[in-house]
Amino acid sequence: MRVPLPLLSPTRAHPASTSGSSLRSAQTHCPYCALQCSMTLTPAGAGAEVEAGAGGLCRKGWTSADLLASPRRLTTPLVRDGRHGRLRPASWDEALDRAAAGFSRAQELRGADAVGVFGGGGLTNEKAYLLGKFARAVLRTSQIDYNGRFCMSSAAAGAMRAFGLDRGMPFPLDDVDTANCLLLVGSNLAETMPPVMQRITRQREAGGSLIVVDPRKTPTAAVATLHLQAQPGTDLMLANGLLFLAIELGHVDEDYVASRTQGWVDVRRAVAGCWPAQVERVTGVAEPALREAVRLLAEADRALILTARGAEQHAHGVDTVSSFINLALALGLAGRPGSGWGCLTGQGNGQGGREHGQKADQLPGYRRLDDPAARAHVAGVWGMDADDLPSPGRSAYELLDALGTEDGPSALLLMGSNPVVSAPRAAHVQSRLAALDCLVVADVVLSETAEMADVVLPVAQWAEEDGTTTDLQGRVLLRRRALDPPVGVRTDLHVLAGLAERLGATTAFPVVPQEAFDELRRASAGGAADYAGISYGRLAAGEELHWPCPDEDHPGTPRLFLDQFATADGRARFVPVSQPPSAEPVDETYPLLLTTGRVTAQYQSGAQTRRIDALASTAPAAFVELHPFLAQRLEVSDGERVRVSTRRGEAFVRARITDAIRPDTVFVPFHWAGRQRANLLTSDALDPVSRMPAFKVCAARIDRLSEAAR
Ligand code: SF4
Repeated sequence: MRVPLPLLSPTRAHPASTSGSSLRSAQTHCPYCALQCSMTLTPAGAGAEVEAGAGGLCRKGWTSADLLASPRRLTTPLVRDGRHGRLRPASWDEALDRAAAGFSRAQELRGADAVGVFGGGGLTNEKAYLLGKFARAVLRTSQIDYNGRFCMSSAAAGAMRAFGLDRGMPFPLDDVDTANCLLLVGSNLAETMPPVMQRITRQREAGGSLIVVDPRKTPTAAVATLHLQAQPGTDLMLANGLLFLAIELGHVDEDYVASRTQGWVDVRRAVAGCWPAQVERVTGVAEPALREAVRLLAEADRALILTARGAEQHAHGVDTVSSFINLALALGLAGRPGSGWGCLTGQGNGQGGREHGQKADQLPGYRRLDDPAARAHVAGVWGMDADDLPSPGRSAYELLDALGTEDGPSALLLMGSNPVVSAPRAAHVQSRLAALDCLVVADVVLSETAEMADVVLPVAQWAEEDGTTTDLQGRVLLRRRALDPPVGVRTDLHVLAGLAERLGATTAFPVVPQEAFDELRRASAGGAADYAGISYGRLAAGEELHWPCPDEDHPGTPRLFLDQFATADGRARFVPVSQPPSAEPVDETYPLLLTTGRVTAQYQSGAQTRRIDALASTAPAAFVELHPFLAQRLEVSDGERVRVSTRRGEAFVRARITDAIRPDTVFVPFHWAGRQRANLLTSDALDPVSRMPAFKVCAARIDRLSEAAR
């Protein structure tokens, strides 16, 4: 087992200042979440100044340029000599040669699937596309997936089976402003996407109501008309209970159900046992609040139901999504202007990143890898025989779990992800990474996963290269290069081209983002996520283009499903679902429910934001939220360091006592590394459809530490 060793010389001063000629004032977008707020970067002293676009920025957006000139970023490739050696600086040729040799050796010994590829939902469309192409057309491995599996996969699978198409929000974000009723399930927008709260303020000022479903009284729940503080993992029962009441109170849109859907009878039967007292017993939400929620939803001309990670990151996440889609269909919301169901995508390119081929079962354009026609189309673009494309491979956690095993990959290329912090059951994942013969990581900084690598490749950041992302409403955005990357740093596209060349690729790997995008357009043409008509030229001219956009004269599609859904008969599908038993019930040893989540000043695994001083000083460490009743029972004081344990492991964090959380639940944010890692605790129980891990609930306990250890 390889143990991460200290680095000899991890970084050096940024050799290319962000001041002077290398910086051009440029229109771009924030590198973090799927809201993709617009900004202008301009030269300012020794760094870059961020100017917010019309929608504003949160703290992360304002400070995003700080990492560009940070001495903490990597500016030279690193290689490890021997299994237990230290990382040392190397030339690009040496590093790429080592990586390619490691992949070749693994495949010579154990076949194409001996090399795995792990991508990220923050990669641009161009990178996600070429990473998938590299895996399928060069490595010919089936073993590719990405960290978006941990983020949006349950919503995507729920949308596919109801509507035949997954686009997080099938309507424009502007609909939030005009909704008479907005139901947010498992979303804390005030902390995860603060600029959206301006929209909710407008919505509320216009008389709209806001219902928030969350086990915590978050800042979002605090401004809600109605807060349904359901127990973690019971949202499905809650949705079925709301549907039961909608039926009982005569709010079902029978004409819509008859003309636009299929499967209503089965769903009606499935919720027949979800009477309010039963729902209250399971969820903890009282009957009057359930009735009020149904009234607010049913009386609204324009009602939106938006789910997010709190509802989706469960071992029954897809069914939970289906339960809310069922509610939306019964009320006649989906496909009606101003109304509908949508998913609040999280990662910066969480939407585009799941469309263009870095998912285990997918080819570009949201095509399926097991569809012969899709294989033939993409193989044609790549100039290869469709029979040479691999089959679908393992999902993200299953891929990580298989690393270094007899049947799993012995080498891995990892781009845009930090699973040592972000994967569930993180200590186990760390041990699997350590069992690899060859781990190659491309990253901006020496993340916790990069620390374990045999080869580390320093790559450019968002403001140093052109690229496109697709935001949470399916709109494609152009991020413009504003400055040159530091000397010694290359782009991810150069990394893939360099590896492809060394591995004898017979297909091209463009290093110019626009050329990569033009190839993606051809590969996606005719697919569900059709980008054929979207060009850098149109985006640069300011056109707002939502996919599908099949040709250059097409205006894009901001609203989907107005006339029909993307199913064979054009009708949406109801899916009968019921609340399953908990994947991990509480017991005497682990009597509490643990849920995990985010804070405003950190992003995902924190690899970037923990290295930005202004953010790190605001949110320096993980914590555990405890209700005062629980704290009193455990005799824990505010600020006291405690041990949080689950069946996977233990983490050590300070207690934060607040009545904003349920007394039976504790909350730990997941952005930090080491012994504060929330994912040392989380469960690897997987959803049977989406393979989403159960990040949002498991059984836990809290223990006080000895006085010396506190
Ligand atoms: Fe906007 Fe998200 Fe960036 Fe904040 S992190 S500025 S909400 S894109």
